[in-house]
Amino acid sequence: MEMTAKALDAISVPAFIISRDHKVLAWNVACSLLTGIASESVIGTNRHWTPFYRRRRPTLADLVVENATDNLAKHYAQFGRAQFAFDAYKAEGWFDNLNGKRRYLVFEARPLVSEGQIVGALETLQDVTDYREAGERLKLAAQVFDHTCEGIMVTDEANRIVSINKAFQALTGYGEEVLGHDPRILASERHSDEFFREMWDHLHQHGHWQGELWNLRPDGSEYLVQMNISISTKDAGGMNHVAVFSDITKQKEAQDNIVFMAHHDFLTGLPNRVLLEDRLAQLVARSEREGKGFAVGFLDLDRFKLVNDALGHDVGDKLLKEVAVRLQGAVRTTDTVSRQGGDEFVLLLTGLESPQNVAQVAAKIISRLGRPYWIDGHELSVTPSLGFSLFPADGRTPADLIKNADAAMYDAKNSGRNTFKFFTHELNAKILESLRIESSLRAAIPRELFVQYQPQLCLGTQAPLGGEALVRWRHPSLGLLSPDKFISIAESTGLIRELGRWVLEHSCQLIRETGIAVSVNLSPIQLAQKDILAVIRDAARGIEKNMLTIEITESALINDFDKTKTLLEDVRGLGVSIALDDFGTGYASLSYLRQLPIDYIKIDKSFITDISGRPIVLAIIGLANTMGMVTIAEGVETPEQIAFLERHGCGAIQGYYYSRPLDEDRFVDFIRENVKPVSRTILTPPRDVEPLLTWSFTFATGIDEIDRQHKVFIGLINGLNSGVSDESMLRGRLDELIAYFKYHIDYEGRLMTQYDVVDAPDHLRQHELFMRNLRKLASFSPRHEPSVVAGRLARFLCTWLTNHILQSDKNLGHSLKRAGCRE
Ligand code: C2E
Ligand code: MG
Ligand code: MG
Repeated sequence: MEMTAKALDAISVPAFIISRDHKVLAWNVACSLLTGIASESVIGTNRHWTPFYRRRRPTLADLVVENATDNLAKHYAQFGRAQFAFDAYKAEGWFDNLNGKRRYLVFEARPLVSEGQIVGALETLQDVTDYREAGERLKLAAQVFDHTCEGIMVTDEANRIVSINKAFQALTGYGEEVLGHDPRILASERHSDEFFREMWDHLHQHGHWQGELWNLRPDGSEYLVQMNISISTKDAGGMNHVAVFSDITKQKEAQDNIVFMAHHDFLTGLPNRVLLEDRLAQLVARSEREGKGFAVGFLDLDRFKLVNDALGHDVGDKLLKEVAVRLQGAVRTTDTVSRQGGDEFVLLLTGLESPQNVAQVAAKIISRLGRPYWIDGHELSVTPSLGFSLFPADGRTPADLIKNADAAMYDAKNSGRNTFKFFTHELNAKILESLRIESSLRAAIPRELFVQYQPQLCLGTQAPLGGEALVRWRHPSLGLLSPDKFISIAESTGLIRELGRWVLEHSCQLIRETGIAVSVNLSPIQLAQKDILAVIRDAARGIEKNMLTIEITESALINDFDKTKTLLEDVRGLGVSIALDDFGTGYASLSYLRQLPIDYIKIDKSFITDISGRPIVLAIIGLANTMGMVTIAEGVETPEQIAFLERHGCGAIQGYYYSRPLDEDRFVDFIRENVKPVSRTILTPPRDVEPLLTWSFTFATGIDEIDRQHKVFIGLINGLNSGVSDESMLRGRLDELIAYFKYHIDYEGRLMTQYDVVDAPDHLRQHELFMRNLRKLASFSPRHEPSVVAGRLARFLCTWLTNHILQSDKNLGHSLKRAGCRE
């Protein structure tokens, strides 16, 4: 046995021998190395299973010794007879922890026979873990090859396709028929021979190539692939090319789309600001090199906002698209038409010999854009204003050229729109001046600012109404500047908030100190400010109701009507009145006005100055009177204007004739002296027409509802004075008046009882007396001319109401408020 053991030690195959009674007889060195168990510790024992299994169980040798090989299936997943010996068995399997490692063993056992009897068994073991793992990796690789979504193609040294995967077929549309072909079979004609030569050079130099390739499917469709090719050298020499690729056609499309969108306007498809700047920069560089000129045009549609506001953005958008098409049609294809946003377009006109050529193009654009548009059943017309700057005379950088074209466009707007202007050096001087103003404005607030006040006169009562605060700037080097020079700059820089707040606070201080009513201009920018309500509330603290008025322009009403409405109502809630400034010049529509809490409408001075504006003035006064709003005419300079305004029921005037804007002290004196009424001294009103009564803040009782009813009442009285042509009309108006008056005195009576007002009996007596007179007058004799009767009635009512309000209602308001009335 010792001999056998020695012989076993000499071979490099791990092996051990057990006896018939399962004792270890031999355990060779290789077996010790494999199992980590020394032969001394195992020989003579029956513990030879321990390196292999966690619990005691037979080894293959044990089964062979017992001749229990029918049981092999119970113990091994893989087993069978050995190849070269009829009585030997083999099995294989994973051993989780054999000498500290997971190993795969293949083992064989054969019986040792002596004299026909089994006396023992020899088992040999083979560790094939590495081989096994490599096999599994290979299997995995094959699976990956087949299941990956990238196409894979392998070519041999002669660049013939030798292997493709499933994805290859899906992506290229080719199957096994490509085997043996050159991969060029896949290529489209988009790439030159040069391209492929470079690809091969790179591949051979670096061992790999990566790039995008346009390929062609058998059905003729083109697709873009991201291709990675690498060279794999074979062990036996020679090499393969392995190409892995994926279809990126869709990504490429998406990417191209993004690039397009980043450079084009989504609505019209025209180049946008980004692309324009790019092209302009290139154009500047090229023109510098070639010494050629070109023109930059800035185009803005006139009153485009009206279309959007009146017909909705949908129609506005369609109009813009059509404008874009017409613009492109008016210039050469080599020129650029870009949309900057809104209704602004910028043009780059090249190859023009002289400014005259530019003028011709401009005229063409104006004519084409000015033709009617048919959109969604509406016939629309818009006109453009254009400004041009020329390279190199008006600027050598894109920024300068655009800025100057823009300035010229504004010049075109200012000279009546629907026209074009070139940039000029006078314009430049103006721009420079505004730049200077802009840079010094911040530091000027409020040190260099001061406020003048222009008195306003109530035509009805011939008493001063108060004044409008108008800001001025004493500029250290430019001298005294009027607001026209710096308000728009303050607006565009945002400084208007600070400036406006200062004017507001300053004016409120004057109201507090003198008790004189003042109105203050508020820019649309301020109105859009989040905390504007708080700003007004803080400034107006401690000021009596209706002593402060804020003036807003119509343009402030355009944006977000509902929000503006709520804001104005809140401002009113603070006891501040609201005036609509420069009425008639903007966009305000009548239906809007009706819904807004507006106290005064200021008729723009252009309608007062120009006699042709008179029908508009009449319309505005009529409209305002029916809505219980007071009209204030601006820019009144002559007695004739006053006569006209007074005759037609305008409420108040403001203008040089009454007074220019005055410094604070002089203004206060002016109002306090309660200067002589102007109109009575200079005019004799035509005999048949009586002056009308208008609502004035001096009438305010402090109770909103009473004030409102008084205004309606005034409207009804004024109605008597105009257009009453026959008796039934007169009777109708009188009935209306009596009914309304009854409603009014009932209302006041109810309040007086509710709040137990002391001077009530006297007030009620006046009401009764008046009602009696009114009824008496209503029973006029049909012998009289109805219009004359109406005129007299109106005069009577005016006088009575004025006295009544000033003597009684104002006190009533006071008493009611003291008693806690909040109506
Ligand atoms: P506005 O609010 O319409 O003010 C009336 C303008 O008409 C004032 O010009 C006034 O001096 C002028 N004016 C008054 N009577 C006559 C007249 O009989 N004939 C002529 N030709 N003009 C007359 P001003 O002071 O130059 O103010 C111009 C505009 O600047 C104002 O127009 C107003 O919109 C704005 N503004 C003035 N102060 C402020 C302010 O504190 N804040 C804001 N946001 N704007 C202001
Ligand atoms: Mg104003
Ligand atoms: Mg005005």
